[in-house]
Amino acid sequence: MDIHEYQAKEVLSNFGVEIPAGALAYSPEQAAYRAREMGGEKWIVKAQIHAGGRGKAGGVKLCADDQEIQAACEAMFGRKLVTHQTGPEGKGIYRVYVEAAVPIDREIYLGFVLDRTSQRIMIVASAEGGMEIEDISAEKPDSIVRSTVEPAVGLRDFQAREIAFKLGIEPGLTQSMVRTLQGCYRAFRDLDATMVEINPLVITGDNRVLALDAKMTFDGNALFRHPQISELRDKSQEDPRESRAADRGLSYVGLDGNIGCIVNGAGLAMATMDTIKLAGGEPANFLDIGGGATPERVAKAFRLVMSDKNVQAVLVNIFAGINRCDWVAEGVVQALKEVQVDVPVIVRLAGTNVEEGQKILAKSGLPIIRATTLMEAAERSVSAWKSDNSLNLKVISS
Ligand code: ADP
Ligand code: MG
Repeated sequence: MDIHEYQAKEVLSNFGVEIPAGALAYSPEQAAYRAREMGGEKWIVKAQIHAGGRGKAGGVKLCADDQEIQAACEAMFGRKLVTHQTGPEGKGIYRVYVEAAVPIDREIYLGFVLDRTSQRIMIVASAEGGMEIEDISAEKPDSIVRSTVEPAVGLRDFQAREIAFKLGIEPGLTQSMVRTLQGCYRAFRDLDATMVEINPLVITGDNRVLALDAKMTFDGNALFRHPQISELRDKSQEDPRESRAADRGLSYVGLDGNIGCIVNGAGLAMATMDTIKLAGGEPANFLDIGGGATPERVAKAFRLVMSDKNVQAVLVNIFAGINRCDWVAEGVVQALKEVQVDVPVIVRLAGTNVEEGQKILAKSGLPIIRATTLMEAAERSVSAWKSDNSLNLKVISS
């Protein structure tokens, strides 16, 4: 789960990371009022969306007075901001953060990620801040400092000092840098984050180490341990299909293709998507309905997949190990009676009680296209989508 910049800054500042003065606003008037309340001469108005790259897209504006703040806000509120991280549909701006403009001497990149190879939290930093990490690694790979943290002892002072040294931080600021690194590390570890990114972390003209931007992502499976973090969820920033799925306990990722997928098991769902592509189609989604595919769950899955207007065929691929094919088949039949599905439906069942499952599908009288192998299922889905979009015209295979 992602959170907003202003929220990540508040979280990190509770762990000792220094941030500039700032305040949240829900309207242009409130933004101007908040800036006046804060004092100072120049402010940065920042669109709060769950994506980076806002600066280049017009979502970060330097303002010198009330009028400029209001004008900057009016150009943001209610609009969709499209950055290279949002995709072409952009993300809606409903909150802005007004921050004191600070004099920047140096910009540093600082990231904390989970490194799967070493199974450790890894610190990634570069003296080339302000650029995206992908660009830094393409253009200035030698500037990147990587350091993994030994979980038994945590991030020790000497290790943090070594990173500061490699970034060329002057000795007088080493202690502030160490505090920043340790604050981020503790926030990451204690709150089950999967990513913390400060880009840029700056050295100011008056010699402070400040986080000017902040991004945090949390492990959705650990959110139950951190109700104060779960509360920060902002559904306006999520793909509506994905938030609906999350509310129903299904694991769904929306994609751009047009063959909807209903599969049990994440690995099988991935293989199904690959096979669809191999057969010349494009999956509309990843959906893992889990091991116990009850009729209710299958119906929920159909509703969810069909809510995507791009879906022109649905492929149900179930391998029943613990599950039973007859049970799943009943679920499919029930779902098709309850949910309006006006596109071809292709079902491939394998595993426990497969014969009974096939019988149920055949007896249902529903125009379900059946397949025995995964390849066959994918090919039939692709040809069903290409040849015709109407379920009613499909021939029922024996
Ligand atoms: P994004 O990464 O989404 O573009 P940032 O928060 O990193 O947004 O802001 C973009 C740039 O704007 C920063 O790299 C920095 O140069 C400048 N900036 C952001 N906040 C401030 C601030 N409080 N004072 C001065 N400059 C800022
Ligand atoms: Mg940034």
